[in-house]
Amino acid sequence: MLSNLKAQPADKILALMAMYREDPRPTKIDLGVGVYKNAQGVTPVMRAVKAAERRLVEEQTSKAYVGLAGDPAYSDAMISLILSDAVSRDRIAAAATPGGTGAVRQAFELIRNTNPNAKVWVSNPTWPNHVSILNYLNIQNTTYRYFDSETRGVDFDGMLEDLSEASAGDVVLLHGCCHNPTGANLNLTQWQTVIDLLNEKGLIPMIDIAYQGFGDGLEEDAAATRLVTSSVPECLIAASCSKNFGVYRERTGLFMAISEKADNTAVTQGNLNHLNRQNFSFPPDHGARVVTTILTDDALRADWASELEDTRLSMLGLREQLASELQRLSGSDRFGFLAQHRGMFSQLGTTPDLVEKLRADYGIYMVSDSRLNIAGLNATTVPILANAIVESGI
Ligand code: PMP
Repeated sequence: MLSNLKAQPADKILALMAMYREDPRPTKIDLGVGVYKNAQGVTPVMRAVKAAERRLVEEQTSKAYVGLAGDPAYSDAMISLILSDAVSRDRIAAAATPGGTGAVRQAFELIRNTNPNAKVWVSNPTWPNHVSILNYLNIQNTTYRYFDSETRGVDFDGMLEDLSEASAGDVVLLHGCCHNPTGANLNLTQWQTVIDLLNEKGLIPMIDIAYQGFGDGLEEDAAATRLVTSSVPECLIAASCSKNFGVYRERTGLFMAISEKADNTAVTQGNLNHLNRQNFSFPPDHGARVVTTILTDDALRADWASELEDTRLSMLGLREQLASELQRLSGSDRFGFLAQHRGMFSQLGTTPDLVEKLRADYGIYMVSDSRLNIAGLNATTVPILANAIVESGI
């Protein structure tokens, strides 16, 4: 049996990480992998997470199974963090999942179970795992134009034109904030136009929100998700705590499914529980419990929000430093988009050949689609990157 297996293609980012580790150059810079790193290159455990973990160690009396949807207090805390009061709670079914990826996967399975004819529309480009999971599940999918490689902003006209081709019942996958990989985002007026199109054509939004607090602030980054959910009959949401709580390896996510009417919620909730049961029974609990402990304790929550804000501001500072250094070296404003983009990533919009040149000649590692992780930089490496970008003719 096992000898019939075919080798899977290597994961590009993991392959890049391995090359980086083996590169002997002391000046090498890793802008590949999607984790936050501070100025010392460390992905820290946040203070509030440590405190909540200490409290759990002291106070937790059992590790017995929790329900199939995880701890309801976790769902409540996350729903309030993301949606505030945009949607009446009795319309929302929710289940804890192994990370945001688990939530994305459950959402796709739910779509396939309930409407096998639905096509899922994803932005071009999107987080590659969206497309690979859709293909793995044999779900029809296609792209809508999103990134304008000239302006490095959103090709909004192209996006609308493509989505106008979608059929009623199709699902449109949208990034709630901090678009990965491009860093380019819609403004709220554009979101409203998208909502009008969704409602006009009977399309169902699925929002992937994995970076709340990394862009313009905790509330600001949730604004689009709140606007969508308060304006459409049905919506699916996949949320991740990996980045904003720094609990990557704890696998902490939430899948929410919002029904048009509250009397549908119990059946929807039953389906979420069923999906968890079929795939892994009970979702991981530790990360979810840490998140709940933080969100429901005033002091821990304030400390978490303040550390998250420092993280956000440090990335914004690096963006501004990089954009101004590039302006100085290139004598042009063409890199101004780096300061406009939000979140951990920006797509430079250059060719794989030039990305390879940056790696070979300068020891600068980024994914071949020219996505760079802003958090991989620090005040010392920004001028090195800026110089390499200008010298290599990007
Ligand atoms: N969605 C997007 C857009 C992401 O960038 C990520 C993380 N790379 C995720 C979902 C899932 O993250 P995780 O499974 O680590 O929580």
